[in-house]
Parts: sequence; C-alpha cells; structure tokens
Amino acid sequence: MSKPRLHILALGGTIATRPDASGAMQMGLGADDLVAAVPLLGRLAEVEAETVSRVGSHSLSFDQIHALAAKIRSLKADGILVTQGTDTLEETGFLLDLMLDLDIPVIVTAAMRNPALTSPDGPGNLLAAVRVACDPWVRAHAKALGVMAVMLDEVYAAADVLKVHPTRLDAFASPQTGPLAALVEDRIVPMSLPVRDAIEAARTRIGKASGGAAQPVALLWMGLDEPGRLIEAMLAASDRLGYRGAVLAAMGGGHIPERMADSAVRLAAAMPTVVSPRAGGGPMLRQTYAGPSSEIALRKAGLIWGGRLNPLKARVLLETCLRAGLARDTIAEVFDAFG
Ligand code: ASP
Repeated sequence: MSKPRLHILALGGTIATRPDASGAMQMGLGADDLVAAVPLLGRLAEVEAETVSRVGSHSLSFDQIHALAAKIRSLKADGILVTQGTDTLEETGFLLDLMLDLDIPVIVTAAMRNPALTSPDGPGNLLAAVRVACDPWVRAHAKALGVMAVMLDEVYAAADVLKVHPTRLDAFASPQTGPLAALVEDRIVPMSLPVRDAIEAARTRIGKASGGAAQPVALLWMGLDEPGRLIEAMLAASDRLGYRGAVLAAMGGGHIPERMADSAVRLAAAMPTVVSPRAGGGPMLRQTYAGPSSEIALRKAGLIWGGRLNPLKARVLLETCLRAGLARDTIAEVFDAFG
C-alpha cells in the first residue's frame, strides 16, 4: 500500500528555534530541519515540507492564517500538518477550523520545550501528528473531526483546545470536551467525535471571509470593580479607536460589574459586543439573574451571547464574522448556536 502524502507547513515558534551566540533562542529552523530531526517520518509517509514563515505565534496575524488556509485549500495531499508556536495555537487552530472544510486530516502541532533543551518535545509531537494523520480511523473521520491539535500524545479538537499553562509540558487541554483520541504505544485510540453543528452553521454564514479586510476586535477582561474606562475611551473616540467589535470576558454565568453596565450597553449599540465567560468556557446562563448587569438585562440590551466559547475563541469568531461583512443580527445568530 502506498504511503500517505503529507504536507508540512512550518510557521515558526519554539519548535523552530535555535540558540544564538548569547544562548537565547531565536527563530531559525525551517520545515526541512524539523523533518530531518525525525528520521522515522519517512517510513510512515511521503512528506513534503515547506517553510511558510519563521515567526513566534504571538506575532502571527489573522491575515497570515487566512493566507495559510488558502494555501492549504490549494494543496494536493492526504493530510496537512502545521507547525507553529504554542502561544496562539488555540486561536489559529480555531480560525483554520472555521475556514477549512476538508475531508483530509488537518493537524496543528508545536513544542513547549525548545530544541536546545535535553528533552525537547517538538520531534515527538511532530511524529505523533504524522502518526495521527496516517491513522485509518482519523482519515475515515477527518471531516467529522475538523482541524485537530496534537500535543503530548493527545489529539484535541482545535475548536475546543486551550493553552492552560505557560510553561509546563502538558500545557494543552480541552476542559469542556476532553481529547478526541490518545496515542498509546503504536496505536491511536479514538475517544470521541466532536459536536460540530455550531461550527458548520457558522461556516455557512461566514463563507469566504478570507477576502475581507482585518477587523480589530477588543478583548476586555472583566475584573473585580472594573470601572469600564477603556470602554468609555472607545466610545468617546470618533473612530472607536479603530475597533470594529468587542468581546467582554464576563464573570460567572455572564455578569459584569454593575458600575459599568451602562458603558457596556452603549458599547453594544456602537459595535457588535460579545459576552463570553472568563471562567474559560461555557455555556453561560440566559435567564436566571435579575439586575442591571445580569445576563437577563445584558441580553435584552443587545449584547451578543458567546455561548460556550471561551473569550479568545469568541474573539476569533467575531473577527471572522466582521471580516465576512455579517450584520449584527446574523452575528448574534452565529454565536447563539454555541449555546
Ligand atoms: N512564544 C512562542 C510562540 O508561540 C512559544 C511557543 O512556541 O511555545 O511562538
């Protein structure tokens, strides 16, 4: 049987760093270097490697990920692997998932420990990602699985995975749904298929957002006694400081401090404003609490409910909706499907 043809696209990140003269890690390795570090890959697949960029994922842009999605769509391969930094993998993976509707595995992987350390995880993660891409169950269910992230021998839905620790090796988790599969010995053990109705519905509405211009979305994290002055600054500026939408990372089931409720309501009148749970993921409440900054009041006042999406994912979805030119009511419907 012929080996699957995999295309590896390297963006940069810790997995692609090397030490400079001072010993500090710099971007430097390309896709060929990553492949060369794992000789076993050639036994599993026919691998084509391409260096797309050499940047830390903290400096990637929405435009770059849209360009990457377009490139992926144009490739003839049995599976696609993207290597990048871990910092924004939970966002880029979700954006790719919104943009791609392919029936081949698309997998994002990365490294927490750089190549100069004694036990770097990059080569192991790349090998694991290749094994996942070659696995018959994964290939048969590729469309149903959506874009995946493979880290530390676990397979996650890119739509759900979160970076939950800044430095530890086990920095990734899907707290809401758990992993899709695990790698054990030489086996991929399937564990679940994701529920993707909301993503499919969003994709239908969003269509070809890739052609649109970038739409800055403010992410405002609600904390104890937050006075809402950044919102007031946005409202006072004639161009809203350049922002086209906002995500409020709200407390609990969808609450914000009462002292800034009026600012939030006026912000929602000025631009699509999504409320999303700062607790990491939803679903949030819809009809339990009364009061001017409760979920009942905020929903009635026109704030869009982010459902189970964590604030970073909600920001990605809102940017994509705005880029696609969707009107506020349609955006609210897209988010509503997320619960
Ligand atoms: N700052 C790096 C990046 O995201 C961290 C990493 O790759 O783990 O590119």
